[in-house]
Amino acid sequence: MMRSEEFRKYAHQAVDWVADYLEGIEDLPVKSTAKPGEIIEQIPALPPEHAEPFDDLIGDLDQKILPGITHWQHPHFHAYFPGNSSYPSVIAEIITAGLGAQCMVWETSPAAAELEEQMMNWLKHLLDLPKAWDGVIQDTASTATLAALLTARERCSDHTTNRQGFDHNRYRIYCSTETHSSIDKAVRIAGFGSDNLVKIAVDDAMAMIPEKLEAAIRKDLDEGKVPCAVVGASGTTGTLAFDPLQALGEICAKYDIWFHVDAAYAGTAMIVPEKRALFQGAELADSFVFNPHKWMFTNFDCTAYFVKDKEQLIRTFEILPEYLKNSTRGIVNDYRDWGIPLGRRFRALKLWFVMRAYGQKGLVETLSKHCGFGDWVADQIRNHEQFELLCPPQLNMVVFRWIGAVEEQLNELNTQLLQEINDSGKAYLSHTKVRGKYAIRLVLGQTRLEEHHVHDIWNLILSSSASLKR
Ligand SMILES: *Cc1c(COP(=O)(O)O)cnc(C)c1O
Repeated sequence: MMRSEEFRKYAHQAVDWVADYLEGIEDLPVKSTAKPGEIIEQIPALPPEHAEPFDDLIGDLDQKILPGITHWQHPHFHAYFPGNSSYPSVIAEIITAGLGAQCMVWETSPAAAELEEQMMNWLKHLLDLPKAWDGVIQDTASTATLAALLTARERCSDHTTNRQGFDHNRYRIYCSTETHSSIDKAVRIAGFGSDNLVKIAVDDAMAMIPEKLEAAIRKDLDEGKVPCAVVGASGTTGTLAFDPLQALGEICAKYDIWFHVDAAYAGTAMIVPEKRALFQGAELADSFVFNPHKWMFTNFDCTAYFVKDKEQLIRTFEILPEYLKNSTRGIVNDYRDWGIPLGRRFRALKLWFVMRAYGQKGLVETLSKHCGFGDWVADQIRNHEQFELLCPPQLNMVVFRWIGAVEEQLNELNTQLLQEINDSGKAYLSHTKVRGKYAIRLVLGQTRLEEHHVHDIWNLILSSSASLKR
């Protein structure tokens, strides 16, 4: 077993390793060029019989592991959505691992439960969410959305499905055609069946059309079905489209339907007062999720899940075996009753470190800066005759394509353009399709992103497009 003196020595080395890595990250190719099987063949098929010298491990990290890492903390990571980390968050993670506490109920670490409660309050304040909401940390937005649909299911069935199982196949869930695949997954897992997920059409801005939602609900009611939940997207993954939450929320209220808002990525932007208009109507939600582990400098995993009525949530998940009965029940928050897993990491600590290290002002400034970068790139595209925006740019994301050839060739040539940029190792972007058109997504939200990087990526897009083989 490693002794304390050795731990000090190697842990300090590891911290230096992380600092060196992050300082030198711009010299590494953003997207790993590893081929399938290339890493596993360097790892022995069996664990060592005898303890190995720890020095060998750090050496292997550089030689065997780093080549197979895609560098999410590289400022030119512009793909998908960022999975940001930051130094304060990393420091908290070290401490969390050192504490190694299981924070399932209040008694198993009162500080973890109470800090979590207060951090959720801080987030409500930062995002200007309703004061009456209650929040809980979940591992991912996928889990939070599953929790939302399970709660909606119980509410809809007057809390009988947990006990008796489904006694009919008539519950209906609604979301737009652009909503994240985690909704499809949750609908399957929660037992609704994917045939009962109704995908509502979107408008030119890729946002759900509320009239179509209401028409679908009415049709279902006419056919004896039971509208159970609507999922509104605030910032879709493909194009960062914003569903009209106000209209959706009013429809849900009218027909007594659970209203869940998925703001997994974009929710962080609510910290910036000028951006809150995009989320207008969010206060009508029964449940709301966003991921500090995407754009809020808090490393994975850390999802913030808020509910209007915590009793509905707790009634859905509460199970009380003898060994978990204790004298503080009902007086404190036992978060194991607020979601799926029993065991819980002490994730509130990194939120505390991040929010204190940045301050509200630091967060607003950094997020505003990122949104300004998005505006700048959108302007370059508007003013360039060989590029076009494929949907309205929002926040810090731009969805565009190169249009320097005939329409029939554009999907192929834009695929080539993206490939060329990613193969250069200088940046990593991803794509989507907008009404059949191949579209490049550029997200400008990395922790270490500065203005010069934004000019560099635009120049790289220009130079790569100039060398396309037509
Ligand atoms: C990223 C994302 C998700 C899934 O988030 P996880 O935390 O990885 O489960 C869901 N919805 C939207 C809109 C997202 O951007």
